[in-house]
Amino acid sequence: MKKKMMLISPHPPGRHGEESITVIVQMPLGLAYLASLTPGEWEFDIIDENIELAMNEEETDVIFDGFDLVCLTALTFQSARAYKIAAACKKKGMTTIMGGLHASVVTEEAMEYVDCVVTGEAEAIWPTVIKDFEEGNLKKLYEGGLPDLSLLKNVYPDRDLLRKKYDYKFSSIITTKGCPNKCDFCSVPTFQGGKFRERPVEDVLDEMEATDYKGLMLAEDNFYGHGKRSNERANRLFKGMVERKLNKDWLGFTALNISQDADTLDYMAKSGNFGMLIGIESTNEDVLKKMNKRVNLKMGVDSYYESVDKIHQAGLVVWGSMVFGADGDTKDSFERMANFVLDNNIDILTYGINTPFPTTPLFKRVDSEGRIFRKNFPMDWKYYDTANVCHRFVDMTLEEFIEGMQLVYKMVYDGDMLRTRFRNTIKRNHNPRNAMFAYKVGCDWKQVFEQVLDHLKELYDSGDYYQDWYKSNSVTVNKDLAGVATVY
Ligand code: SF4
Repeated sequence: MKKKMMLISPHPPGRHGEESITVIVQMPLGLAYLASLTPGEWEFDIIDENIELAMNEEETDVIFDGFDLVCLTALTFQSARAYKIAAACKKKGMTTIMGGLHASVVTEEAMEYVDCVVTGEAEAIWPTVIKDFEEGNLKKLYEGGLPDLSLLKNVYPDRDLLRKKYDYKFSSIITTKGCPNKCDFCSVPTFQGGKFRERPVEDVLDEMEATDYKGLMLAEDNFYGHGKRSNERANRLFKGMVERKLNKDWLGFTALNISQDADTLDYMAKSGNFGMLIGIESTNEDVLKKMNKRVNLKMGVDSYYESVDKIHQAGLVVWGSMVFGADGDTKDSFERMANFVLDNNIDILTYGINTPFPTTPLFKRVDSEGRIFRKNFPMDWKYYDTANVCHRFVDMTLEEFIEGMQLVYKMVYDGDMLRTRFRNTIKRNHNPRNAMFAYKVGCDWKQVFEQVLDHLKELYDSGDYYQDWYKSNSVTVNKDLAGVATVY
């Protein structure tokens, strides 16, 4: 009889985040890799909790039974839910394995809640994990490390397995990993290493050709790379997509310096690109310095208008991502940042509340300053999702932060703003397909934004933010509730 493996992507029930953007709902690629990498005869099932829940409403039991192995992958905000699922699986006698970013950076904690933890990347180590399990010799910890990306040539993720169950529109695809920068809020250098690892272009093109997925998201944080050689590699990749007539709808993350490369932008447009996600983070160079966001400082905030214009001229859209609540942000930052988005014709604005992810320099700093008030770990990890406030601000009060976020909502998302921005995009890039894509992302993010405003109101009402704070600090806080009512 075949052994049975359940693959789970946990998700806190009711949360809306970037995973709720319907036009690019994508599969948990790591689980598709595990299915392909598993040697021998196994039967698989999958639960993506972004789509259906793995537990009953009381969170006391999982809705499945009889699996030999239950494999979970989790980012930090998913980890508390993963532990709950693991506890319920153990009660039913099922063995649990956890991997992914959170288990890789907070390994000892994860080891308390599951039978086995796999850190780093699974490509090289997974067959050993399975062999040990089958021989009754599963260890508590396996370190996958950071294997060479040429290994990905040997095994493609089993996208069809996941698509059979859920109708995912998009799949991600790995083309590079790692980052040599050290932005203080970012887990990528810790999780994927400080070396920019590049997959051979022909391997990526072969995988793109092998999948009939039309919608692809390049999985890395900067597909254009960090220097002339990697920029040329990106150019070859998109040229290859055109030459092979792959006909994909795709997007990815990069930095604004790509705007200076008209040839690459041209291949991107011809190969089916919608546009690019760019971490703008802040319009204030002092804040960027505190974040250590060197790549943005190098370009200079003043150059953004021209850069966005060049991307528009190629027919593409700019999806800007910002951070609100960074040290150095004051009550006046919000209007400035919203005006920046509008004045620079940034087609999509999404954002994260500054979040001290575990083991990042930001976490170490604000923790040492006694500013983190969400510390009931592991349950409080659910707040580490960039949609909640986890630590106290230094340059504004919570009330000022909430009012500022309401103002951004009003200026960029409220009323007719999305339609106005859609018309503006089309005027500038003359590309209805890409402008419509931006508009749809904006409509979905509007819902995400409204949930963030609800979270902020709940935080204000709960009093959690100022708990213990008065005892140890002389901060004067405006306790007047007036003006904090929701505006939408
Ligand atoms: S935010 Fe981007 S550039 Fe900065 S460390 Fe993370 S991946 Fe690298």
